[in-house]
Amino acid sequence: MTVVAISEEFFELIPPDAKLECLGGDCTWSEGPVWVRAAEAVLWSDIPNNRIMKWSEDSGVEVFDTDVEFTNGHTLDRDGTVVSCSHGHRRIERRTLGGTVVPIVDSFQGHRLNSPNDVIVKSDGTIWFTDPPYGIASDHEGHAAPSELDANYVFCFDPSANELVAVTDQVEEPNGLAFSPDESILYVSDTSAALRDDGSGNHQIVAFDVADGPSLSPRGVLAVVEPGVPDGFRVAETGHIITSSESGLQVFTPDGELIGRIDLPETTSNCVFGGPDGQTLYITASTSLYRIQMNVQGAVKA
Ligand code: MG
Repeated sequence: MTVVAISEEFFELIPPDAKLECLGGDCTWSEGPVWVRAAEAVLWSDIPNNRIMKWSEDSGVEVFDTDVEFTNGHTLDRDGTVVSCSHGHRRIERRTLGGTVVPIVDSFQGHRLNSPNDVIVKSDGTIWFTDPPYGIASDHEGHAAPSELDANYVFCFDPSANELVAVTDQVEEPNGLAFSPDESILYVSDTSAALRDDGSGNHQIVAFDVADGPSLSPRGVLAVVEPGVPDGFRVAETGHIITSSESGLQVFTPDGELIGRIDLPETTSNCVFGGPDGQTLYITASTSLYRIQMNVQGAVKA
């Protein structure tokens, strides 16, 4: 069974008979899905193969671009263009559907970023992203290099002021991130357990109150996620948090209660709302892109 309810509340978000559909991919590690409304398509990264994939209803799975310098997470800017994390360039960048790529930000106080992992855009146009060292730890998903920073920060970049602010260094290895529907809370996953074999490290989502400035105040751990780690995740318009895990997606209330699961046959990395009605959830999991129909849209409208 794909849809596993732990509480009846789960069926507010998803039909009990929702079917999981594999859309294909032939990837090594799929991550960073974004619904591009101008193209009615999903773009996502196949990180170890250094390429960006594309799926649309009309054309199915295609290779969108190659030699992309190990992109990871993507999101849409306020104008609908794609904003990407690049492990290889160690930067945030903007790309058009025509293939033009323009750097946005690549350094903090004169030091190179580590390897931006996932990115979101706030309604005021600021670009928020995580910067763990996974893309410089080896040549598998980038280029091996030492970190030039003293912590693994979550950053906020203000394009209008060309200013990069480190909003927290309190997440050991920050990975996925998303705002609550009213943007008063920022959720960040900590996946420091990901590359360790000894059972140490974190596999949890932490929450922060967001104030102008920008600045964050810790609210504590929202949820410990297992098996595996919470890599990428999204927030629904209802405020529920839909997170990846080793076994599929898990859905938590804003209070941190686990209310249901969407089980997948492969280790799951991320998801994004999209489709013509904004209620299709596209899911990246190891080799493939999957989709499932929901009853709700994302907090960020597709
Ligand atoms: Mg990630």
